[in-house]
Amino acid sequence: MRALVTGGAGFIGSHLCERLLKDGHEVICLDNYFTGKKDNIRHLLSDTNFEFIRHDVTEPILLEVDRIYHFACPASPIHYQYNPVKTIKTNVMGTINMLGLAKRVKARILLASTSEVYGDPNVHPQTESYWGHVNPIGIRSCYDEGKRVAETLMMDYHRQNNVDIKIIRIFNTYGPRMAPNDGRVVSNFIIQALKNEDITVYGKGEQTRSFQYYEDLINGALKMMEREDFIGPVNLGNPNEFTIMELAEKVIRMTGSKSKIVHLPLPQDDPTQRQPDISLAKKTLDWEPKTGLDRGLSTTIDYFLNLLEKEKN
Ligand code: NAD
Ligand code: UDP
Repeated sequence: MRALVTGGAGFIGSHLCERLLKDGHEVICLDNYFTGKKDNIRHLLSDTNFEFIRHDVTEPILLEVDRIYHFACPASPIHYQYNPVKTIKTNVMGTINMLGLAKRVKARILLASTSEVYGDPNVHPQTESYWGHVNPIGIRSCYDEGKRVAETLMMDYHRQNNVDIKIIRIFNTYGPRMAPNDGRVVSNFIIQALKNEDITVYGKGEQTRSFQYYEDLINGALKMMEREDFIGPVNLGNPNEFTIMELAEKVIRMTGSKSKIVHLPLPQDDPTQRQPDISLAKKTLDWEPKTGLDRGLSTTIDYFLNLLEKEKN
């Protein structure tokens, strides 16, 4: 199979490219390097089955492929709020372009959607049948509503043009190759702890998230792509729910850090709780996450430790 991975130079995309190559596929990685970087895919460039194209998904492109993994979109609040209009364009025009491509070359397309489509949820844990509680005019809307429109586009191209689609809703995912500057909680806390700097907990830290290790997500995404007769949407996440305060304490403990916890204002519209109901993924994909937070964090801490060492030299 020849697979196109949009956003392939990013955190999740680069791991996906690597795994697809390992499984014997040809991979075309497409990225505009907004939040992705060459370092994430440098080790793949010498593989004859791998090709990189620097391209922005808001512009159309024609490629002969069998599978499209559509992951292009900044994912951290700092990055998606940096140029919110561009984030919407990436989600709307980018998804239209990829769906147009899928229609033309009869490729199957999988959208990397998000738990953010549930907004600040008042159903807990979140099931796929829940329509969400999203502010349409807030600072997170460019991303949340962008992904909601992307899902709508997927469904309409499917109903109207018979495009072969899959939708996954990814819950907070972490691991090596997260960008150190993207402001997400796992990378922020680990870097702060390793530098013995203050750990910045926003608000009281009572808000919850459920953290999934990237390998589990990749396994779920690959299963979903090849599952016949099921288009989703399906939640892919780890149901282990932690408060942000618990995460901060865990990171301090695991790194042996001297950092102190400080509290900063809670950003606008920050969801108070988030936990996936993964019954559907268990039933239809025979999938569940295998990596607990301690094991996943320990690999991620090693990665950032290495990165900081390299920066020093
Ligand atoms: P990331 O920022 O590391 O990766 C996004 C990639 O998309 C980057 O390489 C970036 O350069 C590229 N990109 C952005 N805009 C583009 C454009 N217009 N054209 C071409 N390339 C573009 O983030 P990530 O965590 O790897 O997220 C990947 C995907 O998974 C995103 O679609 C995100 O919404 C989704 N997702 C991630 C999480 C998570 O917790 N990591 C959760 C839910 C959904
Ligand atoms: N957060 C925090 N300190 C940080 C970064 C994030 O307390 O330095 C909080 C943030 O307010 C949110 C949670 O951690 O409640 C997860 O934030 P992240 O940006 O990683 O993901 P998202 O909010 O998109 O789930």
